[in-house]
Amino acid sequence: MKFIDEFRDGDLARGLAAAIRQAARADREYHFMEFCGGHTHAISRYGVTDLLPPKVRMIHGPGCPVCVLPIGRIDMAIALARDLGVILCSYGDPMRVPASGGLSLLKAKAGLGRNAGDKGERRGEIRMIYSGADALAIAQQNPDREVVFFAIGFETTTPPTAVLIKQAQALGLGNFSVFCCHVLTPSAIASILESPEVRQWGSVRIDGFIGPAHVSTIIGTRPYEFFAEEYRKPVVIAGFEPLDVMQSILMLIRQVNAGRAVVENEFSRAVTRAGNRKAQRLVAEVFELRRSFAWRGLGELPYSALRIRKEFADFDAERRFALRYQAVADHPACECGAILRGVKRPQECRIFGSVCTPENPIGSCMVSSEGACAAHYSYGRFADLAAVS
Ligand code: SF4
Repeated sequence: MKFIDEFRDGDLARGLAAAIRQAARADREYHFMEFCGGHTHAISRYGVTDLLPPKVRMIHGPGCPVCVLPIGRIDMAIALARDLGVILCSYGDPMRVPASGGLSLLKAKAGLGRNAGDKGERRGEIRMIYSGADALAIAQQNPDREVVFFAIGFETTTPPTAVLIKQAQALGLGNFSVFCCHVLTPSAIASILESPEVRQWGSVRIDGFIGPAHVSTIIGTRPYEFFAEEYRKPVVIAGFEPLDVMQSILMLIRQVNAGRAVVENEFSRAVTRAGNRKAQRLVAEVFELRRSFAWRGLGELPYSALRIRKEFADFDAERRFALRYQAVADHPACECGAILRGVKRPQECRIFGSVCTPENPIGSCMVSSEGACAAHYSYGRFADLAAVS
């Protein structure tokens, strides 16, 4: 398939691996963070780390939208269906993220099904959908029910949610709203660079970033220039195929060797400096910055997420149902927070692969295939076993 096969070519990969080995200086180490879960998945799935010299180390970042959802937000989504009787529509991945009290959307869905019809009252429902348009259709088919779309994701998924809200407004749908949990990439990168582990203690060393692919098709490469200029960290925007990732690592190494810190675009087949202006205008019309938003692992980050503008308040589930966020601590053994900040690796969590597995996730990083723990469980855990045997 065009744009896929040529970016998975084994001979080219061997050539790139040789170029990386040659470029990496013997007298230093290179620590690069891949921000995005898509890159984490590609690195694990295609064994990219095995092709790198030991002095080049990849650090997983927080760019998996499911992983950064705090428990309190999942609790709010469950409460919408369980306590307020709405039909909550969610993508598949958030369904399995652990919530309070041993629940998840999936378990809550099963509970709601079991109790349906008790005492004759109308119970809420949780439905899994493939796109926001499904939620809109459900609202049209159920005019006497409140339907809420659980909207998550980084800048890639925000424009479709904006389209959905505008469509609902145009249709005059009075029973449809959005529980908006959209978050922003640059704020998360800033938080990592400002974290004590990076700035004060130096326990997390980051020499450069592999920047997101899909997110950058929307926001362009310009927002990353700040990190290159202010923090002197090279950024290379890269596609999600293995050769994209390897080429971007080579580009980062070359920048570091030359003492340069600029934004380079390896994913030029889809990303421009300005990004998708039409999508940006649409997002600006429907959303505004939140003062603060709680991220799993990173805590409350100022201006790091979006909320629905008051012009579209009728479609804002948080306003409509007076929802309030309440922080909830992660499972005491879970190291998701440290993993999302690049402080620990999945295999350093003591319940990785034993108590916590993709079938029974204890933390959010084990849920989505883009989560660092799920990616390492699927593709890397046998290498760990081989290393100790
Ligand atoms: S293995 Fe599970 S519990 Fe441990 S950090 Fe990963 S997701 Fe959290």
